[in-house]
Amino acid sequence: MTPDELLALDRAHVWHPYAPMPGRIDPLVVTDAEGVRLRLADGRELVDGMASWWSAIHGYRHPVLDDAVREQLGRMSHVMFGGLTHEPAVQLAKKLVDITPEPLQHVFLADSGSVSVEVAIKMCLQYWRSLGRPAKRRLLTWRRGYHGDTFHPMSVCDPEGGMHSLWAGVLPEQVFADAPPAEFEHDYVQHLVDLVEQHADELAAIVVEPVVQNAGGMRFHDPRYLHVLREVSLANDVLLVFDEIATGFGRTGELFAADHAGISPDVMCVGKAMTGGYVTMSAALCTSRVADGISRGEVPVLAHGPTYMGNPLSSAVANASIDLLLGQDWRAEIKRIETGLHALDAARDIPGVADVRVLGAIGAVQLDHPVDMAAAQRAAVDHGVWLRPFNDLIYTMPPYVIGDDDLAQVCTAIVAAATVG
Ligand code: PLP
Repeated sequence: MTPDELLALDRAHVWHPYAPMPGRIDPLVVTDAEGVRLRLADGRELVDGMASWWSAIHGYRHPVLDDAVREQLGRMSHVMFGGLTHEPAVQLAKKLVDITPEPLQHVFLADSGSVSVEVAIKMCLQYWRSLGRPAKRRLLTWRRGYHGDTFHPMSVCDPEGGMHSLWAGVLPEQVFADAPPAEFEHDYVQHLVDLVEQHADELAAIVVEPVVQNAGGMRFHDPRYLHVLREVSLANDVLLVFDEIATGFGRTGELFAADHAGISPDVMCVGKAMTGGYVTMSAALCTSRVADGISRGEVPVLAHGPTYMGNPLSSAVANASIDLLLGQDWRAEIKRIETGLHALDAARDIPGVADVRVLGAIGAVQLDHPVDMAAAQRAAVDHGVWLRPFNDLIYTMPPYVIGDDDLAQVCTAIVAAATVG
């Protein structure tokens, strides 16, 4: 198939993320990828500043991960998880229990980030139902959040400027706190405490992205807010859910964002980087308190069981990806990337740039107006870099294996994109 034939079929038949149908976008055709580079059908190579939506932390075609997939393919790529179990999934669950905060002991292996958030919410609602308190079924979150594209996760996304405002009135009505400020502010703490106390009788859980609000704007906040949430949730009989789908596995400089605060939620979601960006998989972990509560209910099972639950191929590559990460000085690598990302400070003087933010392996330039995505992307591609800006942001979450020169190229491309975007 020539690239033109491929694009014609793509436009006619294939949905892309957040895109119209029939297709009115012009995706670039990728033929293969290696290390931090994507190769296009026209022969160009781009340094991937996106790590495939923040998942490909070890880059593409890493020999260790390739071997893990091949080895598992030689055994079985999939088998149902109902009534059967296998080593890759059990090993993965144990690994996750070992590396996440200690109270998290029980692991549900789901198939995408959004589904793990669904499962997390189901766990919380069912917990209170099992304890004879079904009125506790609302969720408190802060504005500017993003937790996925299925219905319950959409209900805790930013209700106004966010991607799912179309569904206002259809989604379950949740309780929204203001987005957390970057700095620690006592007035904001009071706002959180007041809201939780006011709604405690109907709240099942607080659901937040800890330390970084990602798709809601790459906004960072003081980890002490997580302490506040932990204390106020315990004091008011409300569960606490951390969505670490974007922040997990080192991205912010700690293995999990919860580690910045040294606390544990009752439920935690992970995904994206868990499989090194190879195959889709996510997990919702919960404490024994939550699991025991559910099993005391009239219906003592967690009624959720996707076809591809605990997929052996995904589990095997997740095991390899986590081992690869932990087997190196990942903290030093993230620090190195953080230092390199400060080249983005050059964007501060560009007219129209409102802010530059760097944390761990996340670098973002915020404009004071919506980005012209096509122009910004073209500028980045002209600099040999793949980016996907959104709203008023041009940002990178690169693979951790990115070298210093490639990282400098990504920063140059972002500054160039900010100039035209
Ligand atoms: N939660 C967070 C914090 C995310 O950043 C995302 C995706 O960007 C999701 C949930 C949804 O994950 P998925 O796209 O795998 O469904």
